[in-house]
Amino acid sequence: MPRGKPNPNGADVTWLVQARLVNDPFADPALFVDFHFTRQALLFDLGDLSPLSARELLRVSHAFVSHTHMDHFAGFDRLLRLCLHRLAPLHLIGPVGFVDQVEHKLRSYNWNLLDTASFDFVLTAADFDGDRVGRIGEFRARQAFRRRDLPPPPLVSATVLEQEEFQIESVVLDHGTPCLAFAFQEKLRINVWREGLDLLGLPVGAWLNHAKRAVRRDEPDHSRIRIRDDLSVPLGLLRQHALRTARGHRLAYVVDAAFHESNIAKITELARGADQLFIETVFLEQDAELAAKRRHLTAAQAGALARRAGVSSVVPFHFSPRYVHRENELRRELERAWRG
Ligand SMILES: [Zn+2]
Repeated sequence: MPRGKPNPNGADVTWLVQARLVNDPFADPALFVDFHFTRQALLFDLGDLSPLSARELLRVSHAFVSHTHMDHFAGFDRLLRLCLHRLAPLHLIGPVGFVDQVEHKLRSYNWNLLDTASFDFVLTAADFDGDRVGRIGEFRARQAFRRRDLPPPPLVSATVLEQEEFQIESVVLDHGTPCLAFAFQEKLRINVWREGLDLLGLPVGAWLNHAKRAVRRDEPDHSRIRIRDDLSVPLGLLRQHALRTARGHRLAYVVDAAFHESNIAKITELARGADQLFIETVFLEQDAELAAKRRHLTAAQAGALARRAGVSSVVPFHFSPRYVHRENELRRELERAWRG
Protein backbone atom coordinates (compact mmCIF):
# COMPACT_ATOMS: atom_id res chain seq x y z
CA MET A 1 0.00 0.00 0.00
CA PRO A 2 1.30 3.49 -0.72
CA ARG A 3 2.25 5.15 2.56
CA GLY A 4 3.89 8.34 1.43
CA LYS A 5 7.41 8.69 0.17
CA PRO A 6 9.98 7.37 2.61
CA ASN A 7 13.16 9.39 2.96
CA PRO A 8 16.64 7.87 3.30
CA ASN A 9 16.35 8.00 7.12
CA GLY A 10 13.37 5.69 6.96
CA ALA A 11 10.98 8.29 8.34
CA ASP A 12 8.43 10.01 6.16
CA VAL A 13 8.94 13.64 7.05
CA THR A 14 6.21 14.92 4.75
CA TRP A 15 3.45 13.51 6.92
CA LEU A 16 2.71 14.61 10.46
CA VAL A 17 2.15 11.03 11.54
CA GLN A 18 2.99 7.50 10.52
CA ALA A 19 0.22 4.95 11.10
CA ARG A 20 0.77 1.22 11.38
CA LEU A 21 -1.28 -1.78 12.43
CA VAL A 22 0.22 -3.26 15.56
CA ASN A 23 -0.49 -6.89 14.59
CA ASP A 24 -1.02 -9.16 11.64
CA PRO A 25 -4.58 -8.79 10.29
CA PHE A 26 -5.90 -11.92 12.05
CA ALA A 27 -5.01 -10.68 15.55
CA ASP A 28 -6.98 -8.36 17.84
CA PRO A 29 -6.95 -4.90 16.27
CA ALA A 30 -4.95 -1.83 17.23
CA LEU A 31 -3.59 0.99 15.07
CA PHE A 32 -0.53 2.88 16.33
CA VAL A 33 -0.28 6.45 15.08
CA ASP A 34 3.15 7.88 15.72
CA PHE A 35 4.13 11.54 15.41
CA HIS A 36 7.48 12.35 13.84
CA PHE A 37 10.11 13.83 16.12
CA THR A 38 7.78 14.34 19.09
CA ARG A 39 7.09 12.14 22.03
CA GLN A 40 3.41 11.68 21.20
CA ALA A 41 1.48 8.75 19.77
CA LEU A 42 -2.18 7.77 19.48
CA LEU A 43 -3.88 4.40 19.51
CA PHE A 44 -7.07 3.39 17.76
CA ASP A 45 -8.44 0.38 19.64
CA LEU A 46 -6.72 -1.48 22.44
CA GLY A 47 -6.67 -5.03 21.09
CA ASP A 48 -3.45 -7.02 21.34
CA LEU A 49 -0.77 -4.45 22.24
CA SER A 50 1.97 -6.96 23.03
CA PRO A 51 4.10 -6.19 19.94
CA LEU A 52 4.43 -2.54 21.05
CA SER A 53 7.45 -1.71 23.19
CA ALA A 54 7.11 0.00 26.57
CA ARG A 55 8.78 3.04 25.04
CA GLU A 56 6.13 3.23 22.32
CA LEU A 57 3.21 2.73 24.71
CA LEU A 58 4.55 5.40 27.05
CA ARG A 59 4.20 7.93 24.23
CA VAL A 60 0.47 7.31 23.86
CA SER A 61 -1.47 10.42 24.90
CA HIS A 62 -4.91 9.37 23.65
CA ALA A 63 -6.50 6.02 22.89
CA PHE A 64 -9.73 5.86 20.89
CA VAL A 65 -11.73 2.72 21.57
CA SER A 66 -14.33 1.75 18.96
CA HIS A 67 -16.32 -0.41 21.39
CA THR A 68 -15.65 -2.71 24.30
CA HIS A 69 -15.94 -6.14 22.72
CA MET A 70 -12.97 -7.89 24.27
CA ASP A 71 -10.90 -8.12 21.08
CA HIS A 72 -10.83 -4.29 20.93
CA PHE A 73 -10.29 -3.52 24.61
CA ALA A 74 -8.28 -6.32 26.24
CA GLY A 75 -5.03 -4.35 25.80
CA PHE A 76 -6.23 -1.75 28.32
CA ASP A 77 -4.54 -3.53 31.22
CA ARG A 78 -1.09 -3.55 29.60
CA LEU A 79 -1.36 0.13 28.72
CA LEU A 80 -2.48 1.02 32.25
CA ARG A 81 0.26 -1.12 33.83
CA LEU A 82 2.94 0.75 31.89
CA CYS A 83 1.48 4.20 32.39
CA LEU A 84 1.01 3.89 36.18
CA HIS A 85 4.35 5.53 36.90
CA ARG A 86 4.35 8.22 34.29
CA LEU A 87 3.60 11.88 34.78
CA ALA A 88 1.78 12.59 31.52
CA PRO A 89 -1.96 11.87 31.59
CA LEU A 90 -3.63 9.23 29.44
CA HIS A 91 -6.94 10.05 27.78
CA LEU A 92 -9.37 7.38 26.59
CA ILE A 93 -12.41 7.98 24.39
CA GLY A 94 -15.12 5.40 23.73
CA PRO A 95 -18.86 4.97 23.08
CA VAL A 96 -21.68 5.75 25.53
CA GLY A 97 -21.19 3.81 28.77
CA PHE A 98 -17.40 3.81 28.38
CA VAL A 99 -16.68 5.93 31.47
CA ASP A 100 -18.55 3.40 33.62
CA GLN A 101 -16.68 0.50 32.03
CA VAL A 102 -13.27 2.09 32.62
CA GLU A 103 -14.31 2.74 36.22
CA HIS A 104 -15.24 -0.93 36.64
CA LYS A 105 -11.89 -1.98 35.18
CA LEU A 106 -10.05 0.25 37.64
CA ARG A 107 -12.15 -0.93 40.57
CA SER A 108 -11.26 -4.53 39.86
CA TYR A 109 -7.73 -3.89 41.19
CA ASN A 110 -6.62 -3.26 44.75
CA TRP A 111 -4.95 0.16 45.05
CA ASN A 112 -4.31 0.19 48.81
CA LEU A 113 -0.64 1.12 48.33
CA LEU A 114 -1.48 4.31 46.45
CA ASP A 115 -1.52 7.49 48.50
CA THR A 116 -0.70 11.18 48.27
CA ALA A 117 3.01 10.35 47.93
CA SER A 118 2.42 8.24 44.79
CA PHE A 119 3.10 9.37 41.23
CA ASP A 120 0.13 11.46 40.24
CA PHE A 121 -0.74 9.57 37.11
CA VAL A 122 -4.09 10.76 35.72
CA LEU A 123 -6.40 8.75 33.50
CA THR A 124 -9.50 10.25 31.90
CA ALA A 125 -12.26 8.40 30.09
CA ALA A 126 -14.86 10.08 27.88
CA ASP A 127 -18.17 8.99 26.33
CA PHE A 128 -18.96 10.07 22.75
CA ASP A 129 -22.62 9.81 21.73
CA GLY A 130 -22.32 10.59 18.01
CA ASP A 131 -22.76 14.30 18.44
CA ARG A 132 -20.56 15.30 21.34
CA VAL A 133 -18.37 14.16 24.19
CA GLY A 134 -21.01 14.16 26.90
CA ARG A 135 -19.26 12.81 29.96
CA ILE A 136 -15.69 12.68 31.23
CA GLY A 137 -14.51 10.77 34.27
CA GLU A 138 -11.14 11.56 35.81
CA PHE A 139 -9.22 8.95 37.81
CA ARG A 140 -6.08 9.96 39.75
CA ALA A 141 -3.53 7.51 41.14
CA ARG A 142 -3.13 9.62 44.29
CA GLN A 143 -6.82 9.19 44.97
CA ALA A 144 -6.67 5.43 44.36
CA PHE A 145 -8.46 6.01 41.03
CA ARG A 146 -11.72 7.16 42.57
CA ARG A 147 -13.86 8.69 39.86
CA ARG A 148 -14.45 12.41 39.60
CA ASP A 149 -16.79 13.73 36.88
CA LEU A 150 -15.49 16.63 34.80
CA PRO A 151 -17.53 19.06 32.69
CA PRO A 152 -17.61 18.11 28.98
CA PRO A 153 -15.11 19.99 26.79
CA PRO A 154 -16.28 22.66 24.32
CA LEU A 155 -15.87 20.74 21.04
CA VAL A 156 -17.70 21.20 17.78
CA SER A 157 -20.11 18.43 16.85
CA ALA A 158 -18.55 15.08 15.82
CA THR A 159 -15.12 16.09 17.11
CA VAL A 160 -13.64 14.07 19.96
CA LEU A 161 -10.25 15.77 20.14
CA GLU A 162 -9.01 19.15 19.00
CA GLN A 163 -5.31 19.97 19.01
CA GLU A 164 -3.24 22.65 17.35
CA GLU A 165 -2.09 20.47 14.47
CA PHE A 166 -4.91 17.97 14.04
CA GLN A 167 -8.37 16.92 15.12
CA ILE A 168 -10.07 13.56 15.59
CA GLU A 169 -13.62 13.16 14.29
CA SER A 170 -15.94 10.28 15.06
CA VAL A 171 -19.23 8.71 14.00
CA VAL A 172 -21.29 6.05 15.76
CA LEU A 173 -21.84 2.93 13.65
CA ASP A 174 -24.26 0.08 14.29
CA HIS A 175 -22.61 -3.23 15.18
CA GLY A 176 -25.55 -4.45 17.23
CA THR A 177 -23.98 -2.12 19.78
CA PRO A 178 -22.70 1.43 19.19
CA CYS A 179 -19.25 1.23 17.60
CA LEU A 180 -17.14 4.32 16.92
CA ALA A 181 -15.26 4.91 13.69
CA PHE A 182 -12.62 7.64 13.69
CA ALA A 183 -10.83 10.01 11.35
CA PHE A 184 -7.53 11.75 12.00
CA GLN A 185 -7.47 15.09 10.17
CA GLU A 186 -4.28 17.09 9.93
CA LYS A 187 -5.27 20.76 9.78
CA LEU A 188 -2.68 21.91 7.30
CA ARG A 189 -0.19 19.62 5.65
CA ILE A 190 3.30 21.03 5.45
CA ASN A 191 5.57 19.07 3.19
CA VAL A 192 9.28 19.22 3.70
CA TRP A 193 11.17 19.44 0.45
CA ARG A 194 14.35 17.48 0.96
CA GLU A 195 16.25 19.02 -1.92
CA GLY A 196 15.45 22.45 -0.53
CA LEU A 197 16.87 21.44 2.84
CA ASP A 198 19.99 20.06 1.16
CA LEU A 199 20.33 23.29 -0.81
CA LEU A 200 20.28 25.27 2.43
CA GLY A 201 22.64 22.74 4.04
CA LEU A 202 20.14 21.98 6.81
CA PRO A 203 19.66 18.61 8.51
CA VAL A 204 16.35 16.78 9.05
CA GLY A 205 15.39 16.89 12.72
CA ALA A 206 12.99 17.87 15.47
CA TRP A 207 13.43 21.55 14.61
CA LEU A 208 11.22 20.93 11.54
CA ASN A 209 8.26 20.55 13.92
CA HIS A 210 8.89 24.07 15.25
CA ALA A 211 9.13 25.36 11.70
CA LYS A 212 5.88 23.63 10.74
CA ARG A 213 4.15 25.00 13.82
CA ALA A 214 5.32 28.50 12.92
CA VAL A 215 3.84 28.10 9.42
CA ARG A 216 0.56 26.83 10.89
CA ARG A 217 0.43 29.88 13.13
CA ASP A 218 1.16 32.06 10.11
CA GLU A 219 4.15 33.66 11.82
CA PRO A 220 5.97 36.40 9.82
CA ASP A 221 8.87 35.62 7.49
CA HIS A 222 11.43 37.29 9.74
CA SER A 223 10.76 35.05 12.76
CA ARG A 224 13.81 32.89 13.50
CA ILE A 225 13.63 29.11 13.59
CA ARG A 226 16.28 27.60 15.87
CA ILE A 227 17.97 24.52 14.42
CA ARG A 228 20.63 24.13 17.11
CA ASP A 229 22.32 26.42 19.61
CA ASP A 230 24.60 28.05 17.05
CA LEU A 231 22.25 28.00 14.07
CA SER A 232 18.90 29.62 13.24
CA VAL A 233 17.25 30.66 9.98
CA PRO A 234 14.43 33.05 9.11
CA LEU A 235 11.10 31.33 8.50
CA GLY A 236 10.78 33.11 5.14
CA LEU A 237 13.85 31.31 3.82
CA LEU A 238 12.34 27.95 4.75
CA ARG A 239 9.00 28.93 3.22
CA GLN A 240 10.79 29.83 0.02
CA HIS A 241 12.99 26.74 -0.30
CA ALA A 242 11.94 23.87 1.92
CA LEU A 243 8.33 24.01 3.12
CA ARG A 244 5.21 23.55 0.98
CA THR A 245 1.67 23.68 2.33
CA ALA A 246 -1.15 21.45 1.13
CA ARG A 247 -4.46 20.02 2.29
CA GLY A 248 -4.00 18.13 5.55
CA HIS A 249 -3.51 14.37 5.67
CA ARG A 250 -6.67 12.38 6.49
CA LEU A 251 -6.69 8.88 7.91
CA ALA A 252 -9.85 6.90 8.68
CA TYR A 253 -10.26 3.88 10.95
CA VAL A 254 -13.37 1.74 10.52
CA VAL A 255 -14.09 -1.52 12.34
CA ASP A 256 -17.06 -3.70 13.27
CA ALA A 257 -19.99 -2.38 11.27
CA ALA A 258 -23.04 -3.89 9.61
CA PHE A 259 -23.39 -3.16 5.89
CA HIS A 260 -26.62 -1.17 5.76
CA GLU A 261 -27.74 2.21 4.52
CA SER A 262 -27.10 4.26 7.63
CA ASN A 263 -23.62 2.80 8.24
CA ILE A 264 -22.73 3.10 4.54
CA ALA A 265 -23.62 6.80 4.56
CA LYS A 266 -21.66 7.49 7.75
CA ILE A 267 -18.56 5.54 6.70
CA THR A 268 -18.52 7.16 3.25
CA GLU A 269 -18.75 10.62 4.79
CA LEU A 270 -16.06 9.93 7.40
CA ALA A 271 -13.60 8.39 4.93
CA ARG A 272 -14.29 10.73 2.02
CA GLY A 273 -11.04 11.60 0.23
CA ALA A 274 -8.91 9.99 2.96
CA ASP A 275 -5.25 9.39 2.16
CA GLN A 276 -5.42 6.14 4.12
CA LEU A 277 -8.43 4.05 5.08
CA PHE A 278 -7.92 1.23 7.59
CA ILE A 279 -11.06 -0.88 7.28
CA GLU A 280 -12.23 -4.18 8.69
CA THR A 281 -12.41 -6.98 6.13
CA VAL A 282 -13.83 -9.78 8.21
CA PHE A 283 -15.56 -12.16 5.77
CA LEU A 284 -15.47 -13.18 2.13
CA GLU A 285 -18.53 -12.17 0.12
CA GLN A 286 -19.46 -15.87 -0.19
CA ASP A 287 -20.17 -15.71 3.56
CA ALA A 288 -22.16 -12.45 3.32
CA GLU A 289 -25.09 -13.97 5.18
CA LEU A 290 -22.89 -14.75 8.17
CA ALA A 291 -21.32 -11.28 7.94
CA ALA A 292 -24.78 -9.71 8.09
CA LYS A 293 -25.70 -11.83 11.10
CA ARG A 294 -22.51 -10.84 12.95
CA ARG A 295 -22.87 -7.24 11.74
CA HIS A 296 -19.45 -7.19 10.07
CA LEU A 297 -18.26 -6.19 6.60
CA THR A 298 -17.19 -8.52 3.83
CA ALA A 299 -14.11 -7.76 1.74
CA ALA A 300 -16.28 -6.74 -1.23
CA GLN A 301 -18.31 -4.41 1.00
CA ALA A 302 -15.18 -2.85 2.52
CA GLY A 303 -13.77 -2.34 -1.00
CA ALA A 304 -17.04 -0.81 -2.21
CA LEU A 305 -16.99 1.63 0.72
CA ALA A 306 -13.38 2.59 -0.05
CA ARG A 307 -14.43 3.20 -3.66
CA ARG A 308 -17.47 5.31 -2.70
CA ALA A 309 -15.33 7.39 -0.35
CA GLY A 310 -12.64 7.91 -3.02
CA VAL A 311 -9.73 7.07 -0.73
CA SER A 312 -6.14 7.06 -1.99
CA SER A 313 -5.11 3.89 -0.20
CA VAL A 314 -6.88 1.19 1.74
CA VAL A 315 -5.46 -1.17 4.35
CA PRO A 316 -7.67 -4.20 5.12
CA PHE A 317 -7.49 -5.86 8.54
CA HIS A 318 -9.53 -7.67 11.24
CA PHE A 319 -9.71 -10.87 9.14
CA SER A 320 -11.78 -13.75 10.52
CA PRO A 321 -9.54 -16.65 11.65
CA ARG A 322 -11.64 -18.96 9.46
CA TYR A 323 -9.65 -17.62 6.45
CA VAL A 324 -6.22 -18.09 7.96
CA HIS A 325 -5.08 -19.93 4.81
CA ARG A 326 -7.07 -17.70 2.45
CA GLU A 327 -5.66 -14.27 3.27
CA ASN A 328 -4.95 -13.52 -0.39
CA GLU A 329 -8.58 -14.12 -1.32
CA LEU A 330 -9.69 -11.50 1.20
CA ARG A 331 -7.15 -9.01 -0.13
CA ARG A 332 -7.99 -9.72 -3.77
CA GLU A 333 -11.73 -9.38 -3.20
CA LEU A 334 -11.28 -6.04 -1.46
CA GLU A 335 -8.86 -4.80 -4.11
CA ARG A 336 -11.26 -5.73 -6.95
CA ALA A 337 -14.18 -3.89 -5.33
CA TRP A 338 -12.02 -0.86 -4.55
CA ARG A 339 -10.54 -0.54 -8.06
CA GLY A 340 -13.97 -1.31 -9.60
ZN1 LIG B 1 -14.17 -6.83 16.40
